[in-house]
Amino acid sequence: MNIILLGPPGAGKGTQAQLMVARYHIPQISTGDILRESVRKETPLGMKAKSYMEKGQLVPDEVVIGIVEERLNDSDCHSGFILDGFPRTIPQAEALQKILQKMEKTLDHVLNIEVDPEELVRRLTGRRTCKLCGAMYHVIFSPPKDKDLCDRCGGPLYQREDDREETIRMRLKEYERQTAPLIQYYQTKGLLRSIDGIGTQSQIFDRIVQTIERRSF
Ligand code: AMP
Repeated sequence: MNIILLGPPGAGKGTQAQLMVARYHIPQISTGDILRESVRKETPLGMKAKSYMEKGQLVPDEVVIGIVEERLNDSDCHSGFILDGFPRTIPQAEALQKILQKMEKTLDHVLNIEVDPEELVRRLTGRRTCKLCGAMYHVIFSPPKDKDLCDRCGGPLYQREDDREETIRMRLKEYERQTAPLIQYYQTKGLLRSIDGIGTQSQIFDRIVQTIERRSF
């Protein structure tokens, strides 16, 4: 099953992707995670991406397209994948189509998680992530027992650089300008399914499962 998760930053794509991995046993490909890891390791890719990410801007298309093409050719993507945070521009979507054509694959679902902008700002400013295991928390919606430590592994929690309010507003602007047009793009192809992104994690996940399984069987 080949899936794209669309939606603005803070819509819950990462959280829902993790739940989908557990249910469908296909990998999550998060370009944001791959880029952050490269920045942390100070690789050439990370050096290129860092300044864009800090400003809340999109990394150039050719950089991310290369990452995704390489990752999709890994053997664990054989029976499917969940693209989280890619494509984010029309040229990325067109490049993805070519990559999939070469691999003789097609997309099954494009799930668009919908959440209004003020709710997104509230969510993103409270987001915390574990440095060691990647577990995600929220200071209001799913607080850890100790505000600085991960419940799961005891690792330190941190706030992503780009989750500060000013950067968030820039990321939302970028989303409207560059990524929102993908909704129309995939609607025209008959692949788009809208998911109401307001509710608990499990309510939203139930909506996703219903949408996917209604379409597959
Ligand atoms: P995310 O974790 O998906 O919110 O991504 C964090 C940041 O990584 C974004 O604000 C961009 O700077 C960069 N990024 C992630 N995915 C892409 C993409 N598909 N195209 C361009 N930049 C991206």
